Amino acid sequence: MKGLAMLKIGSIGWIEKEKPAAGPMDAIVRPLAVAPCTSDVHTVWEGAIGERSELILGHEALGEVVEVGNLVRDFKPGDKVIVPAITPDWHTVASQLGFSQHDSGMLGGWKFSNTKDGVFGEFFHVNQADGNLAHLPDGVAIEDAVMLSDMIPTGFHGANNAEVAYGDTVAVIGIGPVGLMAVAGTNMRGAGRIFAVGSRQVCVDAAKFYGATDVLSYKDGAIEKQILELNRGQVDKVIIAGGDMETFEQALAIVRPGGIISNVNYLGAGDYFKVDRVGWGFGMSHIKYVGGLMPGGRQNMEYLARLLKYGKLDVKPLLTHRYKGFDKIEEALGLMKNKPRDLIKPVVTM
Ligand code: NDP
Ligand code: ZN
Repeated sequence: MKGLAMLKIGSIGWIEKEKPAAGPMDAIVRPLAVAPCTSDVHTVWEGAIGERSELILGHEALGEVVEVGNLVRDFKPGDKVIVPAITPDWHTVASQLGFSQHDSGMLGGWKFSNTKDGVFGEFFHVNQADGNLAHLPDGVAIEDAVMLSDMIPTGFHGANNAEVAYGDTVAVIGIGPVGLMAVAGTNMRGAGRIFAVGSRQVCVDAAKFYGATDVLSYKDGAIEKQILELNRGQVDKVIIAGGDMETFEQALAIVRPGGIISNVNYLGAGDYFKVDRVGWGFGMSHIKYVGGLMPGGRQNMEYLARLLKYGKLDVKPLLTHRYKGFDKIEEALGLMKNKPRDLIKPVVTM
């Protein structure tokens, strides 16, 4: 079978590989729609997780089951399925502790395009199919459902980890597709005021659509200064979905004592971020830092899918670029790398 792979750091190409085989609990799926991700860009062009060779890329897909192992109960060939980017092994102690993202060690639940071939192949393998796949509900469009793989759960995870409460003032730093879903999740959890930080107009418009009350650009000067001025003080929560190591220092400057800094940004470069001793209350501020990989799994996919099915969440404003045909994946990934100003998220249907 054919797949678009990372050949080495900084280089991608089409390769031929053997079609994967399903173990007793697994499924083989063919993609019906996929989306490239900023994470693929960190992995390939920043070498964020180190060298990978001939590894098929991609972790966001909606697919059709073509084969299942003999212990799979709830899925059969022909079923249309939502495939989460994170596919944990559910029997491990880490999963039982509630951190399935780290099922077999740090980030172990992130298998596609990390420790095994991803979804940019003609077929891909899903471990523990009953625990990781979800049926595509009637009435949800295939390209919308691809946003359930990663963008919706990641943004919402940022809002959940920030423990956004009714009336909270929240700053969301970064409003690409992940940050926009963090804005949407923050809004749904009942935040009062939402500051969104980004610069591209298309993202600014979408941030307002998803519930941002104030939008500002990091290109117009220090964001901590802008937010402290506009808010006349610190915010309750900060969600980081863009920026770099310096963003943590900015977040600490704008969050109140006892507040939460929730990061979902994939830190592709740099070694350390600084925690200001005084800003952190000499170590006694009660400010929490939490960083999270999105939770995968069937339950999370089924619950989030209801938001699309029953019209509580509209992901159409995210889908700025649509491609048709398997071969177009390369072009879509190139777009993600170059981030033209009118881009939020590309999607490729087969
Ligand atoms: P985008 O690149 O589309 O968006 C990044 C956002 O950050 C943009 O709004 C950008 O503004 C803004 N930004 C850039 N530089 C700065 C800065 N210095 N200060 C403040 N804002 C800045 O990324 P995505 O939305 O696709 O993804 C966001 C991150 O989430 C990525 O690192 C991705 O890898 C990660 N990710 C994490 C997952 C998880 O499970 N935790 C899962 C999926 C993705 P501008 O408008 O100028 O572009
Ligand atoms: Zn992704």
